Amino acid sequence: MRIGILALQGAFIEHKKMLESLGTECVELRQASDIKDLDGLVLPGGESTVQGKLLHELHMFEKIKELIQNGLPTLATCAGLILLSEEISNDENVYFGTLPVCVKRNAYGRQLGSFRKSALIKELGNFDMTFIRAPYIEDAKYTEILSQVDGKTVAVRYKNQIGLAFHPELGDDTRIHEKFLELI
Ligand code: GLN
Repeated sequence: MRIGILALQGAFIEHKKMLESLGTECVELRQASDIKDLDGLVLPGGESTVQGKLLHELHMFEKIKELIQNGLPTLATCAGLILLSEEISNDENVYFGTLPVCVKRNAYGRQLGSFRKSALIKELGNFDMTFIRAPYIEDAKYTEILSQVDGKTVAVRYKNQIGLAFHPELGDDTRIHEKFLELI
């Protein structure tokens, strides 16, 4: 099993370490030629505007979008969730747009840069969630809601895509990555 991890910017190393600890081969996606023979894809947190710009500049955007549309299992966290979203309520950009949700960027405000919260995830139980200048999902549309924190949707699943507002790669709880591998 070979998982591609978008490695242009942001928290990709942590995903790689976690997936490797589960016995998975990982490849860092840094240029278009890295995108081949993938069984899964991780879109990490970071800065969605920077990642979106680099994806276009490096001619990786269309290739990755097509793979997601064709059903490649995809785990997207934080900025990655923003890249997948079909609509961003406070930003006119749209990136892959393959996940039918509307997200709000930096939704918890500037004051609350980062926080942790334990909350229930469907089929998994309680999970310690780390939020870093996180988005939340304002409208989950036709997706399956996996978790809500204080009434806001923070995790969804739609076909081959899992979108999370928080960072499951920080910490040592590997259950979300294990669930993702089960999708494959
Ligand atoms: N605030 C970032 C953005 O808008 C997301 C933050 C993160 O990925 N931790 O892209």
